[in-house]
Amino acid sequence: MCEQTARAWTELSRAALRHNAALLRGLLPAGCELMPALKADAYGHGAAAVAGELAKMGVRAFCVATAREGAALRESGVRGVILVLGYTGEQDLPLLMRHDLTQTVVDLDCARLLADRGEPVRVHIAVDTGMHRLGVGPGELEQLCALLRRAPLRVEGVFTHLCAADGTGLRERAYTRAQAAAFWETVQTLRAAGCAAPKAHLLNSAGLLGYPEFGGDYARVGIALYGTLSTREELSRCGLELRAALSLRARVSSVRLLRRGECAGYGMDFAAPRDTVLASLAIGYADGLPRALSGGVGGVLLHGCRAPIVGRVCMDQTLVDVTDIGGAHAGDTATLIGEDGGQSIHVCDVAAQVGTIANEILSRLGPRLGRVVQ
Ligand SMILES: *Cc1c(COP(=O)(O)O)cnc(C)c1O
Repeated sequence: MCEQTARAWTELSRAALRHNAALLRGLLPAGCELMPALKADAYGHGAAAVAGELAKMGVRAFCVATAREGAALRESGVRGVILVLGYTGEQDLPLLMRHDLTQTVVDLDCARLLADRGEPVRVHIAVDTGMHRLGVGPGELEQLCALLRRAPLRVEGVFTHLCAADGTGLRERAYTRAQAAAFWETVQTLRAAGCAAPKAHLLNSAGLLGYPEFGGDYARVGIALYGTLSTREELSRCGLELRAALSLRARVSSVRLLRRGECAGYGMDFAAPRDTVLASLAIGYADGLPRALSGGVGGVLLHGCRAPIVGRVCMDQTLVDVTDIGGAHAGDTATLIGEDGGQSIHVCDVAAQVGTIANEILSRLGPRLGRVVQ
């Protein structure tokens, strides 16, 4: 088993995932279903395992960022709607029909490209209501409808993305409400133009938590489903009992004694201020552990105690000071995210240490990691 032999691995708690899914379902507006975001390997949690568990709970629609992610999910046996939220290049377009994926119409050019193929690809129309990233603008709806009328595309949905729903300021709140108003107006316009889409959706995690009254047929929840929000502050503010679904662990590969004054790691950054016991962990920045945790910024748990990261995080390895932790041995398990012996390191804390959000830390957990599902 992975646990015995892997150098570094993630552990997915199915119980936590189910708990979060049930909690979020309880917040859904009437008639709205979960459409979990499984992009970036389910934010580092392992998309196939997450989809499998959610499917058991009756979840029938998912979204991903790319056609290849969608194809991989199909290959692992996922059924139901798989919406590709992002751009699909010409090279990957055949995947859409082959795997029965639903493609987002990200702009007019994309609509043209899809229309010209003459295939009955399922699509959802993205509407730009203010994020200005992807989507068809309000002034382009007529052109879009004209395109759709001459193509065999199956228009099954229309959606927009809220870009400030996590903000608490008046400005963000007003902007978010304006986005929702613009969206529902666009839905009406499309309907009036004979381009009605059966499904409409706009809620992401922050949207569902803050604005369930916006409604819609799907809530595209990502981060909350995994049991966290982007920051510790947001997480405490939401007041929900979300449970972190992922732990990140690594093997202690070697333990050694340094005399006071000896240094360790690249660039001789660490000089032992006292006789020091150092443990090497078999995980590095190539696995998604941020290099910015170097030099004592970050820490790990070993035998239920905190050990600071010392020196520079390497590509495949990391040094921690275990002087104050008795009996560290090669083969021990260190916890980089998660609980150990009553102590815990939350992904939001790691994110704060390196100046980013939990989403980035999670989604960068790399393919080299083992995956344990519990
Ligand atoms: C990633 C993404 C989501 C999920 O967002 P969370 O904040 O993780 O809930 C929803 N919709 C779109 C378009 C996305 O790109």
